[in-house]
Amino acid sequence: MARRDQELFHGLIRMHVLLHAAREPIFGLAMKHELAHHGYRIGPGTLYPLLHGLERAGLLKPVSDGEGGRARRFYRITPRGRKALLAARAKVDELHHELHEAHLRRIVRTR
Ligand SMILES: [Zn+2]
Repeated sequence: MARRDQELFHGLIRMHVLLHAAREPIFGLAMKHELAHHGYRIGPGTLYPLLHGLERAGLLKPVSDGEGGRARRFYRITPRGRKALLAARAKVDELHHELHEAHLRRIVRTR
């Protein structure tokens, strides 16, 4: 993914993160592999700030992996994160619809 295109995908990548964090506790490297599976190649310099940003926004929270002492930081989705994910899903569904519409509604009146 070209760097200049990343901005366009940022919201989609965040949705992937929230979706997986709703399923199970996630950590950076596992998420990096999952995103690569979806065709997003993002480095740690992008991913970790993104995870911290979602944490600061209250959408993810760090959880202990129960093994203690390891450097690996796991995250789970928060209730607010679930609400945000549901709202974003509705928007993506709508966008998906419009992307595949045969006759896109005109929004500019021409003479
Ligand atoms: Zn995924």
